[in-house]
Amino acid sequence: MKFIHILTISGIAILLCIIAVSGSMVIPLSDTGKEHSQAPEYSPAIDENYNLERIDFIHYAKPTGSPGKPAKSPTCYKLMGVSWKSLPVSYVINTTNGGGLTESFVGTAMTTGAETWDGQTSKELFSNSVAIDNNARYGIQDFKNVIAFGTEDADGNPLPENVIAVTSVWWNPRGRQIVEFDMVFNNKWSWGDAGEEGYVMDVQNIATHEMGHAVGLADIYTTTCSAVTMFGYSEEGEISKRTLEQPDIIGLQQMYGA
Ligand SMILES: [Zn+2]
Repeated sequence: MKFIHILTISGIAILLCIIAVSGSMVIPLSDTGKEHSQAPEYSPAIDENYNLERIDFIHYAKPTGSPGKPAKSPTCYKLMGVSWKSLPVSYVINTTNGGGLTESFVGTAMTTGAETWDGQTSKELFSNSVAIDNNARYGIQDFKNVIAFGTEDADGNPLPENVIAVTSVWWNPRGRQIVEFDMVFNNKWSWGDAGEEGYVMDVQNIATHEMGHAVGLADIYTTTCSAVTMFGYSEEGEISKRTLEQPDIIGLQQMYGA
């Protein structure tokens, strides 16, 4: 797969956007795998400059002793209540990472995650032309959809140890329209291909889950739903979220059609 390189970015734009997003909220740590989505429980701050709202979906490492392998009911999905109205969604990938993963590996894992969702709706959900932009930064509201590795949340605070990844979604309350997503993969983890290396945090596995947020699906924490891609916890070695389950597909198709 080939990626286009973008190497320029406006420092002034970054500065303005940092000012714009300061004061936005971050969802606090949840305790255990309770049945709730974080989306409706917290009211994100409204960004006055753009009148946009932001929610951060924080993906945690699975707590010790949490049950596994239950059945998946058709209701094991949750919509954020916002979606993209303008398709396809294009995004850039900053492949810089702390673990020596190649640009090709990172790019392919991320785009495969996106295309896994795209393949379940007749709409063209994600653009096929994906750019590598190693200056792109997570957490800046600039209408540029960015996937990056990092160690900080959107407000510049260190990501807690048990956070695997965060996807921030900005939407316009008028029309409930998603206008941007940014995604950060916590550099604290040893990332790789768990299908081959076993006990690593699988990039494609987590990317597929996070891409579900990018298109408008919330986390699901019901323990009987732990087999679905949008289940809110993951662990090293896990690759089951690479493929969608029926509830994930039902949720997607409610927003974008079959
Ligand atoms: Zn999530």
